[in-house]
Amino acid sequence: MQTIDVIIVGGGMVGASLALALARSGMQTALVEQQTLQPGSLSMNDPWQPRVSALTEASIKLLNYLGAWEGIIGQRACAYTHMTVWDGEGTGQVEFDAKSLPQKNLGYIVENDVIRNALLQQLASSTVQCFDQQTTLEYKLSGQGGEIVLENGDVLGAPLLVAADGGESRLRQLSGIPANQMDYKHHALVTTVETALFHHHTARQVFLDSGPLAFLPLQSQGGRHYCSIVWSVLPAEADRIEALSDDAFCQELARAFEHRAGNILKVDQRFRYPLRQRHARQYHRQRVVLVGDAAHTIHPLAGQGVNLGFMDVAVLADELIKAASRGDDYFAAHVLDRYQRRRIGHNSLTMAAMTGFQNLFGANDLGIRWIRNTGLSLTNRLPFIKNMIVDQASGLSKDIPGFLQ
Ligand SMILES: Cc1cc2nc3c(=O)[nH]c(=O)nc-3n(C[C@H](O)[C@H](O)[C@H](O)COP(=O)(O)OP(=O)(O)OC[C@H]3O[C@@H](n4cnc5c(N)ncnc54)[C@H](O)[C@@H]3O)c2cc1C
Repeated sequence: MQTIDVIIVGGGMVGASLALALARSGMQTALVEQQTLQPGSLSMNDPWQPRVSALTEASIKLLNYLGAWEGIIGQRACAYTHMTVWDGEGTGQVEFDAKSLPQKNLGYIVENDVIRNALLQQLASSTVQCFDQQTTLEYKLSGQGGEIVLENGDVLGAPLLVAADGGESRLRQLSGIPANQMDYKHHALVTTVETALFHHHTARQVFLDSGPLAFLPLQSQGGRHYCSIVWSVLPAEADRIEALSDDAFCQELARAFEHRAGNILKVDQRFRYPLRQRHARQYHRQRVVLVGDAAHTIHPLAGQGVNLGFMDVAVLADELIKAASRGDDYFAAHVLDRYQRRRIGHNSLTMAAMTGFQNLFGANDLGIRWIRNTGLSLTNRLPFIKNMIVDQASGLSKDIPGFLQ
């Protein structure tokens, strides 16, 4: 039986970040992950990884604070300075650019494996105790906090356990925290494509009758241009698109994207993810606290999922470290309540906005179409509103902790 200050279950991007943030403040932190926590050796010439994230400025500040940003930017990351969103069934279009921002970019598109690997490199030289290739099977309350039982029979105990074990979080379920769920009834097809035209560092998204289609810019290599795509469609449509030959897929994709990237020259393996919204009704219970996808999963259309998770990390670390430095019990309910208050409202609003977008663009009603086309065109003509949206999307206008400002 080993005792530690905080045990984090799940060493994805969110769990690994929290482990580093807490260890930096001197807390004895353990990280349990069912896969390996050994950093790999990625190279610029590796094939593209299918999953990418559009990182906001606030997330970049956190990764920088944790020492991981240098590793990411030195690997493969593509800044985007513009964003275009348009209605594929109408005339509305809105464009954003980074001109009004001090940081010059709207954000960066980075492969998830690159982000996680940079975090694992920092973990390797930290004080975090890593228990990898271990699934957490059980959780129980103990006299001093919570205990988890690992696959190999080891028992780890700590005053506070953190569930960072993803959307299907076993720890959330074992601790009895209920979650509201809603099936978006869409599947996301995800892959990397080579395009005939350069993307000019623009992230683009078209809302089609069938669902949103996003082209996210990746670094060009040897004069060849690449984008990561996320194409959300009904499951039956996903079956059809998935079954297309590569050539037919490329042609259909180019058409759906109105040839704005020119011809699609090549496509990598396609992956498919059912999309579900899930939101825990509370963020802590009986010494278990939730972060990242364990607390909330959201439609990828605005690329907010892991960014919300990173801000959970920043705020939870802020509250725990402040409580510990005051000599308070960092695991006390009132400390965790403060974390919940600072995050749950913001996360709920972001989710409601995504659902609203999905409904607005999924509607075939002529009146609603008119409203959304007029709304997009009007927004495009109002720099003040556009700046507000860009500011909001950067994550910096939220209640972010002092150490990230
Ligand atoms: C198609 C698609 C596109 C997306 N695009 C974006 C985007 O552009 N921008 C963005 O911000 N977000 C995006 N997201 C969301 C983003 O990918 C997730 O929010 C993010 O990966 C969640 O990270 P996490 O660390 O919380 O969870 P996960 O990545 O799910 O990590 C959980 C970890 O816990 C481990 N684990 C699970 N169970 C156990 C157990 N019992 N014991 C031990 N370990 C366990 C797993 O192995 C895993 O490593 C997208 C999502 C999808 C589906």
